[in-house]
Amino acid sequence: MFNLNELVRPNIRDLVPYSSARDEFKGTARVYLDANENSLGSPLMKWYNRYPDPLQWAIKEKLSLIKGVDPRHIFLGNGSDECIDVLIRTFCEPGIDNIVLVPPTYGMYEVSASINNVKVKKVPLTADFQLDLPALEEAVDDFTKMIFLCSPNNPTGNSLDRGAVEALLNNYFGLVVIDEAYINFSRQRSFVADLAEYPNLVVLQTLSKAWGLAALRVGMAFSSAEIIGLMNKVKPPYNINQASQDLVLKALDEVEQVNEMIRVLVQERQRLEKELPGLPVVQKVFPSDANFLLVKVADARRVYEYLLNKGIVVRDRSSVVLCEDSLRITIGTEAENTELLDALKQFN
Ligand SMILES: *Cc1c(COP(=O)(O)O)cnc(C)c1O
Repeated sequence: MFNLNELVRPNIRDLVPYSSARDEFKGTARVYLDANENSLGSPLMKWYNRYPDPLQWAIKEKLSLIKGVDPRHIFLGNGSDECIDVLIRTFCEPGIDNIVLVPPTYGMYEVSASINNVKVKKVPLTADFQLDLPALEEAVDDFTKMIFLCSPNNPTGNSLDRGAVEALLNNYFGLVVIDEAYINFSRQRSFVADLAEYPNLVVLQTLSKAWGLAALRVGMAFSSAEIIGLMNKVKPPYNINQASQDLVLKALDEVEQVNEMIRVLVQERQRLEKELPGLPVVQKVFPSDANFLLVKVADARRVYEYLLNKGIVVRDRSSVVLCEDSLRITIGTEAENTELLDALKQFN
């Protein structure tokens, strides 16, 4: 059975977290002489002389309404990359525990694990980029603390079969982390709606993709209040700076505008999905639920160099398992996509 107390690193379970001035005094006062800030102000706006809210409650309240999740079930990271790092540091004992990855997938899971000296076990996706459940069962051992899934997956673009993910959630008693960085471009239902059902579920999302806020570095983890509480003990006290918090708070009022951008990007993806297969240089366009397409060509390096020569940079994913001779192409503006198509038409 799932047992959080056995899963978490003992030193984190027993940790007395850093308590900042902002943690210790939460009320309002007329005069703040508790945090060694500059009482005279700052060269910028008035409030930038003050430390930001360590737990970012204002943002979480707004996200709570958008996502339909209690604010106590939300963790904010300096990008979802920080959520990944904090998860590994909370649960994995360096040199002892391991995590399981299902390549081809997002690169940061392995990098973060390696930085923390946590072993990585790899169970490749099947030829149609789905979970290999028997091989996963085989790979998991007593020291496997979490399995990272990515759906829609980067760099393949497809969503993982929901039934297979549910089978993992029901039968594996470590954490199942589902990275939904691209969920807004997909018609799949987010696993955020299933948090109450699975105590071992962590869902990652980000403001970097559909929300168009990659520069602000804000990612989200959704999970049980207990798991979020442990992650909050491990994160740096002020991991989301005040400038980002101010801007995110403003941006979260613009759901309509973001939905319109998503609509346009999905429409453009569908146009490329239709047009690209007709070009001689293109061998295969993989189905995508994301804001990019994985495209197999005859000679990926040559096509990459050719496009670069025309001022268009794409991502060559040829070196990645199951992605031989494949380019990952982000959906651009309508004009950019037309330029890409025209360039590829002229390739020979
Ligand atoms: C882009 C991407 C991220 C990075 O998110 P940040 O919030 O910008 O750190 C995370 N996961 C996947 C799968 C991504 O493609």
